[in-house]
Amino acid sequence: MLLGRPVILQDDTGVRRELISLGALRRDERRAAPAFEAAVDRAARARLLGGTGAASLAVLIPVWIVIGVVRAALPQVPAVLVYLVGYSAGGALAYLIWLGGLSVYAQAMAAALLADGICPACAYNLGAQPVVDGVAVCPECGATWRADRIRSRHQFASSVRAGAPGGVSGLARFLGLGSGGPTSITDDRAERRPIVSPWLASAIRAAGGPKRERLIAARREIRRHGRVRRIIPAAFFAFACGFLAFNAFKARRFPSTPTSMWMFVAPSAAIGAVYLPLSSLCGCSGITADHVRAAMLRRRLCPSCAADLDGVPTGGRLCHCQHCGAVWQFGPATSPSQ
Ligand SMILES: [Zn+2]
Ligand SMILES: [Zn+2]
Repeated sequence: MLLGRPVILQDDTGVRRELISLGALRRDERRAAPAFEAAVDRAARARLLGGTGAASLAVLIPVWIVIGVVRAALPQVPAVLVYLVGYSAGGALAYLIWLGGLSVYAQAMAAALLADGICPACAYNLGAQPVVDGVAVCPECGATWRADRIRSRHQFASSVRAGAPGGVSGLARFLGLGSGGPTSITDDRAERRPIVSPWLASAIRAAGGPKRERLIAARREIRRHGRVRRIIPAAFFAFACGFLAFNAFKARRFPSTPTSMWMFVAPSAAIGAVYLPLSSLCGCSGITADHVRAAMLRRRLCPSCAADLDGVPTGGRLCHCQHCGAVWQFGPATSPSQ
């Protein structure tokens, strides 16, 4: 459901179904199970594939230009009329672009959920469902899915989370920290796919043993990139906002200063002095899809879904991820133990 409009996709018999929302998945009680959380994270990353939010906002820029030109060329036309028509047309166009992205992301998100055996229509765990004639029928909502699309079968048993590094927490995600970075990657069959989060947080929580070590090592390598591009803005924001907050608070002592100056500006700047540096440091600027690809493939991990590629048979040098279907070509001289 998005702005009251359900996102529709077809199941594998062509029946129209409503795609489960990311919000419902995030509220699901199975979320305590790291495997479920990792699956939801993969679905959320897949959703970015069809994301046209930025593109639809970008439409507003030409709209502003056109409004400016019309205002200059036709000064006799009432300004209200120009703005009304301009913004209505721009808004309609933005909405259409955004709708166009929906079907793309619905497909990508459904594929990601099914790969983990989660019904894309109702989130039922299809992991234990019997396969008849190559399909699995969801007992909860009746949707029919091709069994070969289910790559991993989970139990989603809740377990205590390991306290070791997981990366961005729920609170950090709520505050928008740790966002940014690449949103898609092209595999070696030239197919655009979702990409793992550069923090690898949920993948690390869900993994155990040596795979966990490899994921942590991959994250360390990924996050080495773009460090300067995160530290410099962080230092700048801390200094600029701190300076502003300090001076706004100080201005309180002068009777000529409007109260709003220190009542509003000072706390806002103080919050900015903490939030902006944090979001820059936890963000992913300077990290590209190529960085993620190199670090993950070097450790035989899928850059699209973080699945273990170690031991997966390679046809020639191409490796077919059993979990998400991405195809990767390993670079020369790679070893999983690195
Ligand atoms: Zn279902
Ligand atoms: Zn994969």
